[in-house]
Amino acid sequence: MPGHTPEPPATDLRSLIPEYAGLARETTLLNPEPGEPGVRESSLGGELLWPADESWPYCAQEDHWTYGSDWRNRTEIVPGAVPMVPILQLFAKDVPGLDFPEGKDLLQLVWCALIHEQDPGPVMPQLYWRNEAEILAGGLLSEMPGVSEGEYDEDNMPEPSTLSPTTAEDCPRWHDLPDDMREAWELRLREPTGGIVRPPDANIIGTKVGGWPAWTQPADWPDCECGHRMEHLLTITGDIQLGDCGGVYFFHCRRCPGLPWDWRFDCH
Ligand SMILES: [Zn+2]
Ligand SMILES: [Zn+2]
Repeated sequence: MPGHTPEPPATDLRSLIPEYAGLARETTLLNPEPGEPGVRESSLGGELLWPADESWPYCAQEDHWTYGSDWRNRTEIVPGAVPMVPILQLFAKDVPGLDFPEGKDLLQLVWCALIHEQDPGPVMPQLYWRNEAEILAGGLLSEMPGVSEGEYDEDNMPEPSTLSPTTAEDCPRWHDLPDDMREAWELRLREPTGGIVRPPDANIIGTKVGGWPAWTQPADWPDCECGHRMEHLLTITGDIQLGDCGGVYFFHCRRCPGLPWDWRFDCH
């Protein structure tokens, strides 16, 4: 439900497993609400503050198709590059918990909203770390490619929404824990009768920055080329329809110069 801020249940795993509570990280819930976000506001699916000297990104995959608004009506799209669609724009002032690279204060995300024969789900996402003042000084791209309705898979396009970020404590999904940890803790949740009563985990499902991924399927953390597991950067889920997708998850490595990043998605 748009605008709904998930409340962690009163009793969850944290109350029974102190070590689990110790895994808590602060997350920033973005709480999107359909509206008319301005180009200089943080938004989901809103217009992006885009520099005039940088052309709008296109997806060069050649196997695009879409259901449009009718699943019986699979439509092949004329081959050729199609414009990406704006997904997320975050200004540093709205997400103090997000550690921006030096000199940057704006994070933008676009992806291709069409379906690809090879890779289901929204693909080819692109992340941009930018400096707001530099963009304003250089001027804005005056014309963004039009997104003609019906051609795009509406499921992969968020309704333009304003954001009202709030912070909360976020813990991992139960199935995101290492096997040995989960098994050891299950023993502690065993009742005298032999059954296991496991209260819900304290992972918040929603579009959020930081914290833990809101995986709907088994966890699938990407590793960086440096050998370390990447950190969770942000999750987009719950608040928007993503076709069969449960969520789209972004990760990056702050140990490496250039902030290498990767992404995952999972399906219901
Ligand atoms: Zn594409
Ligand atoms: Zn790395």
